[in-house]
Amino acid sequence: MTQILSGLVVAETRRAKLVEKVQSFISKSNRPPGLAVVLVGADPASQVYVRNKIKACEHVGIVSTHHRLPDTISQDELHTVIDTLNADSAVDGILVQLPLPKGLSETLATERILPSKDPDGLTSGNLGLLFAGRTRVAPCTPLGVMKIFEHYKIEVEGKSAVVVGRSNIVGKPMAQLLLEANATVTVAHSKTFDLKSVTSQADIVVVAAGRPQFMGKEFFKSGSIIADVGIHRLPDGAAGGGPNGKSKLCGDVLTSELMNHAQAITPVPGGVGPMTIQMLLENTLRLAELRA
Ligand code: NDP
Repeated sequence: MTQILSGLVVAETRRAKLVEKVQSFISKSNRPPGLAVVLVGADPASQVYVRNKIKACEHVGIVSTHHRLPDTISQDELHTVIDTLNADSAVDGILVQLPLPKGLSETLATERILPSKDPDGLTSGNLGLLFAGRTRVAPCTPLGVMKIFEHYKIEVEGKSAVVVGRSNIVGKPMAQLLLEANATVTVAHSKTFDLKSVTSQADIVVVAAGRPQFMGKEFFKSGSIIADVGIHRLPDGAAGGGPNGKSKLCGDVLTSELMNHAQAITPVPGGVGPMTIQMLLENTLRLAELRA
């Protein structure tokens, strides 16, 4: 029987503890931790993400401020907003919601955030610390995967782990976190010859390729642990799509084929996704504590 690694359950468990930690921070520091969320333009998906993040902050006692900027804003004007937040002592974390509208550089905007106020862990300062083994905060999604493994007591040390994908947001930091946990790590990507032969040897596979349901049973050895980071909307009519014109979420892995084959797997939805927001909140508190 394949075990379902529920990120919803892990996030909920950790959220209850986080509420206490935030309260303890408030009594020691006489102020709540603060997260500033910057949204440029009106991308509907980004609006939903931002709303969810603000709601999650409220739930645990982190004060969030929302900075809505028009998509006509220039790079310099965006930097001025970030600089103001960098200098604001009530702000512990700054999140610039990606993607940015065309014409704005995400790299420049991200790098403008002080690493000490970067709860996503995506500035080169924070990624550098992670790869040097002196982590300040690790990127939220891969950190969330590690916390799921920790919660379900999935042993990582000594195991062979393959990460599919090498983005700065997920793949590379994921590989580093697994390495730190003493796994033997391989990183696969779009230029990997014969992906199947690589992943089917692994004890642990983390998939973050951004391709809907492209990995079925033949990619995994029996008894493997799978973390599916991908998230996609399947339209009605597509295999696995929702009925009555409703879209349905799926990951990069064809989960239905893995039941009774994998030892454990994260579902989509309800797997890695909820952990990403939880890690954002935990990283914000960590930055607030470091600043205090
Ligand atoms: P990117 O597009 O930045 O990176 C995708 C990576 O996958 C690249 O390194 C690419 O290789 C590799 N890749 C693409 N196709 C293949 C293939 N056929 N075989 C092997 N490797 C392949 O995506 P992200 O890392 O930002 O995100 C990955 C997925 O995770 C997306 O579906 C995204 O929506 C999801 N996501 C989910 C989050 C959550 O909270 N659940 C948070 C963040 C992302 P190459 O480098 O050679 O191009």
